Amino acid sequence: MSSEERHPDPAGDGSSGALVELVLYSAPECSLCDKALQELRPLRDELGFGVRVVDISGDEELELRYRRRLPVGEVGGRTAFKYRVDADRVRRLVREAAAGAQAGGSTAEQERPRFLVDEMLGRLVRWLRVLGYDAQWRPSISDAELLGQAAAEGRILLTRDTGIMRRRSVRLGRVGALFVRSDHVREQLAQVVRELGLRQGRPRCMVCNGLLEDVSVDEARPRVPAYVAQTQQSFLRCRDCGRIVWRGTHWERIREAVNRAGGLSDRMGDGPGGYNHT
Ligand SMILES: [Zn+2]
Repeated sequence: MSSEERHPDPAGDGSSGALVELVLYSAPECSLCDKALQELRPLRDELGFGVRVVDISGDEELELRYRRRLPVGEVGGRTAFKYRVDADRVRRLVREAAAGAQAGGSTAEQERPRFLVDEMLGRLVRWLRVLGYDAQWRPSISDAELLGQAAAEGRILLTRDTGIMRRRSVRLGRVGALFVRSDHVREQLAQVVRELGLRQGRPRCMVCNGLLEDVSVDEARPRVPAYVAQTQQSFLRCRDCGRIVWRGTHWERIREAVNRAGGLSDRMGDGPGGYNHT
């Protein structure tokens, strides 16, 4: 039996064509799961979403995440129900997801991928943040937890671990993952920029991944070294950890690495703020 199947599949090409998909995590011999699938049918007809059934059995990270709550329905990574179908919440999440999908296409920021980076790529994660990507680094968690978080939050996993690339959730495409080939951070960044088509956005805090906001020169000056205060005109502050950052040598090194990758050179020049920090 196929461990993962879609309902319905009128086109016969594996795609329901629906704008919004509800993922139903289930297992064989689970009567509540069968019941949930039945109860979803009229809702699916009413709202026009796709249903993808995922059998969690034998998949370590899915077992860990869902086994005790089966069946679990998710829409866009948000829990729509557990144990029993909650029709009102399914309706609400499907409508919100459909509205988001329609509006989302117009704003570039919402299309920017978010990343989860394995423990061997601790330097790369900082450079991705400078490029403005939401990149989380989770050293010392298990592969199963890493994959579970990537799946739940829709993050692309960047890894130097070939074992992770062979995991079932990656092979089946439930977790987007990119194997990073080099040990050197410049080459790592070049590969990711090239293969995922990254572009400069508003930088995030290199240290904590927080959002940066503008801060006045007067506010920033007392908190930065004297030579920086004398030479820099624009500063940003991390909303989370409070660090003041400015354009500096990190920025130039990253621009150079990205230029070498041939990806961003035209769009790098006017990135906001800078990137050294106190
Ligand atoms: Zn920060």
